Amino acid sequence: MEENTGNSGENAEETNLPPKQVEIESEVKTEEKVERKKNESQGHCYCGKERNLNIAELLCANCNRWYHESCIGYQLGKLVPFLSNYIFLCKNCSPTGLESFRKCQAQISQMCVTAIANLQQASTKEGKNKLMFNKDKEIIPYIEHHWEALTTTSRRVTQSWHLTVQKALVKDLHILFVFDETSVENPMYGLIDSDLTHIRPNYDAMIKGGMLKVTDMGIQHVVQCISQLRNEKQCVTFKR
Ligand SMILES: [Zn+2]
Ligand SMILES: [Zn+2]
Repeated sequence: MEENTGNSGENAEETNLPPKQVEIESEVKTEEKVERKKNESQGHCYCGKERNLNIAELLCANCNRWYHESCIGYQLGKLVPFLSNYIFLCKNCSPTGLESFRKCQAQISQMCVTAIANLQQASTKEGKNKLMFNKDKEIIPYIEHHWEALTTTSRRVTQSWHLTVQKALVKDLHILFVFDETSVENPMYGLIDSDLTHIRPNYDAMIKGGMLKVTDMGIQHVVQCISQLRNEKQCVTFKR
């Protein structure tokens, strides 16, 4: 019934066309409708819009959809795009009907991934498309500036963490990071997988590690992720 009412306007326009053409046109329209429906079922967020890499977005552990920070009612605190150290359940998947969000302590390597990803996206936005970034002039300053958004631990008093950043970048070379061999004096690092849409929390590992539990109600947090994450080696993942 609704279908007919919806089409009545289109039919009125089409009555002026010769019969054969009407048939072809309506076939095309049906295909378009099927395509649109497919996209709707794969759509992200409550708003149904596509991902927006320029704003913070959270991945729901249960339905695997991305949610824009601006569309989420829950008080999220400070966020930046491309975090992977959190657990988020959207309203539709949370047993309480309210969004559930918890940020975890980030590993230094996760902070480096988030920093480089944001530097890369900012460069793309400027039309420069840079992929490699200076450790001392870009990566460390980004972490310094966004510390509270990146992790739950308090800011370090000394600068000894600068060395930890260096160690983390080298340790995960060829796993998470790439190094520009020609930049030894001013070390430049990038992401091994420069597709930023691949950066997400490793929910599979969290389920295996017992941080999340799959129940009849969907996925739920079971333990505080902070203490658990200390033992979790690979918390960030690039899903290919
Ligand atoms: Zn949205
Ligand atoms: Zn969900």
